[in-house]
Amino acid sequence: MSTAIHDTRNSSSAGNGVWSSWNGLVKHRYERYLSPATEEEIVSAVRDASRIRAFGNRQSSADIGAGTETLLDMTGYNSVVAEDPDSKELTVESGMRLSTLIRELESRGWCVPCLPDIDTVTVGGALATGTHGTAGDGHILAEYMVACRIVTADGSIRSYGDDDTEMMAALRCSLGLLGVFSTVTLRAHPLYYLRVVEEPVRDEVWLRSYRRWLEEHDFVRILWLPHTGYGQVILGDKVDGDTQVRERSAPRYHRHRREVSKLLYRIAGRFPRFTVTANRWLRRLFFSSRTVTRGTLYGATVTKSRGSTLELAEWSVALDRFDELFSELKAQLDSSANGAWAHIPMDVRFLRADETWLSQAWQRDTVTVGCVTRNPQRADEYEAFDLVEQIFLRYDGRPHWAKRFRAGRSELSRVWPRLNDFIRLRRRLDPGGRFLNGYLRHIFE
Ligand SMILES: Cc1cc2nc3c(=O)[nH]c(=O)nc-3n(C[C@H](O)[C@H](O)[C@H](O)COP(=O)(O)OP(=O)(O)OC[C@H]3O[C@@H](n4cnc5c(N)ncnc54)[C@H](O)[C@@H]3O)c2cc1C
Repeated sequence: MSTAIHDTRNSSSAGNGVWSSWNGLVKHRYERYLSPATEEEIVSAVRDASRIRAFGNRQSSADIGAGTETLLDMTGYNSVVAEDPDSKELTVESGMRLSTLIRELESRGWCVPCLPDIDTVTVGGALATGTHGTAGDGHILAEYMVACRIVTADGSIRSYGDDDTEMMAALRCSLGLLGVFSTVTLRAHPLYYLRVVEEPVRDEVWLRSYRRWLEEHDFVRILWLPHTGYGQVILGDKVDGDTQVRERSAPRYHRHRREVSKLLYRIAGRFPRFTVTANRWLRRLFFSSRTVTRGTLYGATVTKSRGSTLELAEWSVALDRFDELFSELKAQLDSSANGAWAHIPMDVRFLRADETWLSQAWQRDTVTVGCVTRNPQRADEYEAFDLVEQIFLRYDGRPHWAKRFRAGRSELSRVWPRLNDFIRLRRRLDPGGRFLNGYLRHIFE
């Protein structure tokens, strides 16, 4: 480990030559910390470094953002570069925050119709990891990228567009391994409004109904609540911009959900069986009312503020295997026979098949299931992560690249048949492994 020679941030997590992920679970020493403001500065940083990783807002759980001698903080590279009103295309620098991108799009009457439930991530970080939302249009965010410029390991700049089908399919979700995204062009859709209804539904009912909901609604998300027999179902329907909706808010005390969860799961950290009680109390307090809201996809469905008291995993499975998988998952997680005391909620979302080589939805309609612990410092002991992973692997599940998982190259290449093509391409573009860190080397070298 060596000490920093350059540190442009005051943040204690990045100071003193130690890079830290948002919740403090991944830490690395570094030698050079650069904050490029231009494409030329990205180029010279890559040329000068023997090992380099670019990162955005450090909100990934997997060890994919640092671990190299030089680090490139992309967050200061964040302007709008160009727009084309006819095709609704906006070109931005990749360090732009997603919240800023959305504001830019909405101010033009545009939107990206599938948003993750977090707006603090950077565009580059979200694209690079296959970050996604849920149905209606239901694609990973990177599917809306129609062109990009990347800085490759030899320090050259390359441009790709929709015509470069194979290259774009590899690049869209590429973890910064093929190059650093410089500018990216997203093709937007017309802005729309949703009427969103959220209410608790018994497991057997939502399981019977979700396929129909996917046909009938423009937004479908289920926050599954293990040990309670319920899921909090969130359904959205497009409405005209001037349609009035009789809104119904959650009780005011709901804004304390995070603190109450934190408190209950702190107790559960010491007495794991208490998780069952905690989940039931949380359901009664915070997941028992019906709310109705109206807004844009961003306004009505994306969480705007977050603490860093979480650690996340997420797995996905083909839509046509979900029922079978879920009955096993529910039986295991609701049981007291194993040590997997799962915290709530577990986020169930839906993606349409795509052609992006490393997308969770590569060539299959997909259901994603999140798994969280509210005690991030005890994440290594949280058995639900391991149990969920084992079950999903039995059903050819794929992990989220940015989140926590243990599977190695052999398991991953079985569920991502293009992984070996990706590795060959990576070796061609970066023969010296300039963009690899220790974690990524195990999978991609
Ligand atoms: C509370 C929370 C909620 C979340 N919700 C969702 C969700 O709803 N849906 C979902 O899919 N994911 C979700 N995520 C995961 C999140 O979207 C990803 O971890 C995302 O990558 C974080 O973006 P970031 O800017 O922090 O990137 P970082 O974590 O800083 O970087 C992620 C990866 O992107 C690479 N990278 C960053 N910038 C560039 C660039 N310019 N060029 C090339 N590579 C680059 C990095 O090298 C790294 O490999 C959530 C995470 C948290 C913590």
